[in-house]
Amino acid sequence: MRLNPFNTGDINVRSSSGGGVGKAGGLGCGTIIIAALGYFVFGLDPFQTAATVESVQQGTQASGPANTNEQEICTSSQYAREACDGLTSLNRTWARVFEEQGLGDRFQQPTLDLYSGAVRTACGSGNSSMGPFYCPGDQTIYIDTSFYDQLARMAGNSGDFARYYVLAHEYGHHIQTITGISGQIRSQQQRVSRGQANQLSVRMELQADCYAGVWAGKNRNLIEPGDIEEGMEAAAAIGDDRLTQGRVSAENFTHGTSAQRSQALRTGLRGDDKACDEYTIVR
Ligand SMILES: [Zn+2]
Repeated sequence: MRLNPFNTGDINVRSSSGGGVGKAGGLGCGTIIIAALGYFVFGLDPFQTAATVESVQQGTQASGPANTNEQEICTSSQYAREACDGLTSLNRTWARVFEEQGLGDRFQQPTLDLYSGAVRTACGSGNSSMGPFYCPGDQTIYIDTSFYDQLARMAGNSGDFARYYVLAHEYGHHIQTITGISGQIRSQQQRVSRGQANQLSVRMELQADCYAGVWAGKNRNLIEPGDIEEGMEAAAAIGDDRLTQGRVSAENFTHGTSAQRSQALRTGLRGDDKACDEYTIVR
C-alpha cells in the first residue's frame, strides 16, 4: 500500500525494551516458531486473562522504562516506519467511521508499543514469541517487529500489506474493546462450555480480520496490485487449520480456518464495518 507518511501528532507510540528473551534464554528459531504456533492456536491475543499470559511467561525479564520518543521509534527501521504509517492511517480511518455514525466521542486511539524482547502489560507480561497481541486493559497493541520476519517465513515472501493486515487486525481488537463487543463476548464465554467459548473466540478473531479489511477497503485508492493477494496469503497462513496441520480438532480452534480468515478479510474489504457485525451476532 502507498500510505501517507506517519504523523507523530496522530499516533501514540512507545517502545519498551525488555530482557531479550531470544538472547537471554538462548531460544533457537524452532522454539520460537513453535511458541508462535501456540500463540496462534491457543489465542493469546484478545481475551487474555493475566493468569493465562503469566503462565507462559516463565523466564522473561522485566522491561525497563519505555522509550516515548515517537520520531526516533518510527524511524528506527523500515518495519517501524510502516507500523507508524499504518497506525496513522488506521486512527484517521476509524475516527471518521465513528464520527459518521455519531459516535465520535467514543473513539479513542490505541497505543502501539513496538517492544523488543519482553514487555510488561496490563494483561501480564508478553514476549516476542507470542507474536503481535492487543491488551484491552491498557488499550495497547504490542508488536515485536522481529515477528514480521517470522510472518515472511510463514506466509511465503510476504510484503508490506501482510504486515499492515496484522496491525489492522490487532487494531480491530481495539475497536471491539471501545465498542464494548469484546466485553460482552467475554462475559458470554464464562457461561458456556469450553468448545462454545472457543467458537466465540473464533468469531471475535474473524471480526478483527473483517475490520482489517474495512480499513483497507476504505483506503482502496492506496492499494497496489498484489496487496490483496498478500493479505489473503497472510490470512490463510495463520489459519488454525493450517498452523495445526490437522492435529487440533475444529472445536479447539480459536482464530478460524484459513478459508474463514480470508473470507472475513474479503467481507471487510467492501468497506462497510456493519458487514462485520454478523461475526459476533450469536444465534
Ligand atoms: Zn486476534
